[in-house]
Amino acid sequence: MPQNRSDVILNLFKESQALLKGHFQLTSGKHSEWYFEKIKLIERPVVLEKIITWLVEDIKNDCLDFDYVVSPAYGGIAIGFLTALKLKKFFAFTQRAEEKMTIRSGFSGLNKAKAIIVEDILTTGGSVSEVLDCLNLREVEVVGIYCLVDRSGGEVLVQGKPVKSLLSLKVEAYEPDSCPLCQQGLPLVKPGASDKR
Ligand SMILES: [Zn+2]
Repeated sequence: MPQNRSDVILNLFKESQALLKGHFQLTSGKHSEWYFEKIKLIERPVVLEKIITWLVEDIKNDCLDFDYVVSPAYGGIAIGFLTALKLKKFFAFTQRAEEKMTIRSGFSGLNKAKAIIVEDILTTGGSVSEVLDCLNLREVEVVGIYCLVDRSGGEVLVQGKPVKSLLSLKVEAYEPDSCPLCQQGLPLVKPGASDKR
């Protein structure tokens, strides 16, 4: 049985099948031993709720003063909503309208509020940065940024701000001609290929 917190959380991700171990071709064309299937987090609310319980514990420990949890659609909606529910805070989400990140005008209470951002999986921090830009327009003060999984291994700052993660995992990506998994003869999987338009 796993003892430490990271192992417990890692096992919850595996249980949800959001974190797959194998031999995958990433969208970049590189190969990796790990793949995150974000949609699986939403497919299994009972497991997600357990994961969010750990995140909420971290947020509470930071003793921040804020009223809103804000997350980017769509993956972040379930995650941010559950987080806000457990923290008894308000929730708002950002969404893309013609590629540009926006916030619905109906979220009027957000104006000049204090907020935290909660994202599902952080890779480069690009979408979190867009959420920050959106919130700046509403004069929202962002007091913390959190994600469930940091694939950068804790190296990313978003507009100079640190991101706290439940699980920090540096995912090695290999060029196909120097991939140790290929050399072991493991079959290559192209995840989500049927979803590509
Ligand atoms: Zn390979």
